Amino acid sequence: MSHSSKHCIVCDLPLTHSELLLLGNSEAVCKSVFCQRLISQKDTMHPSAYKAHFDFQRKRIIEKRQQDQAKEKHKNSIIEKEKAETEYLVKEFTKNNPQYNTQNLPVVNLPIGLQTLAAIDDSRIEKYREHIQHCFEVASEYKDFSDIPEDQHKSSVVHAKTAERLYSEHPEVAEISDRFCTICKGGCCSEGANFAYISGVTIWRLLQRQPGLKADDVVKLYLDNLSEHSIEGSCINQTDKGCSLPKELRSDVCNGYYCSELQVFQKTYREEPLPTLV
Ligand code: SF4
Ligand code: SF4
Ligand SMILES: [Zn+2]
Repeated sequence: MSHSSKHCIVCDLPLTHSELLLLGNSEAVCKSVFCQRLISQKDTMHPSAYKAHFDFQRKRIIEKRQQDQAKEKHKNSIIEKEKAETEYLVKEFTKNNPQYNTQNLPVVNLPIGLQTLAAIDDSRIEKYREHIQHCFEVASEYKDFSDIPEDQHKSSVVHAKTAERLYSEHPEVAEISDRFCTICKGGCCSEGANFAYISGVTIWRLLQRQPGLKADDVVKLYLDNLSEHSIEGSCINQTDKGCSLPKELRSDVCNGYYCSELQVFQKTYREEPLPTLV
């Protein structure tokens, strides 16, 4: 454990000026919670057991940092590549279409969603079915909107309503945004897994519109909208043509969310509609 006093004795990173000032007589450890935790375990273990534990954990902390650095480097290289590709495409496009120039051509750098299509297996469908069934039971407990707990995506109802109002005023913004999302193949949908952000409030809203629906009808409605194939590793409803679920059945989380790239595009477009080539 003999390291320069200027480096953290756990992760080996050089200590910052403020860390050095705070050090006093204690061991040279950086502010990372992992390094701090490892050091704090010293007094709770037998010295020989701690030595082995320290060496093992130290190795893991350093490896993890190297992996994170490699990931970051990879991510940055992709961003750089995409930027260069976009610049090239804009240059080529404006060369062949002189009525546009690089200043008035709006460029949206879409996130790239997962791309591989795969058949939806039965276990995924079963989990989705169970989830919808559960949401129906939850929704049946709500007598009115005030019964819905805050943690059940309640705030997303407000976001979706704002989005809805905005799109009724600017239907072309909604249309172009949907086309962007189709191209992107749901970069923001991967966490949807087998629940698609549907919760009690989604089904409650559906039951408000169609009060006669029973649990089986609701489950059938959602299962009937599944495609045979979906994007691997993404939401069960994400297909190569975008989301297979009609908007009125989607959660308010889905209907109210647009990534920052699209938000910027929508704001710019509302202020000054520009030619958009999607
Ligand atoms: S909102 Fe989601 S699906 Fe649409 S472009 Fe952004 S990341 Fe992709
Ligand atoms: S339901 Fe549709 S919009 Fe919502 S997460 Fe799934 S694919 Fe995306
Ligand atoms: Zn450290």
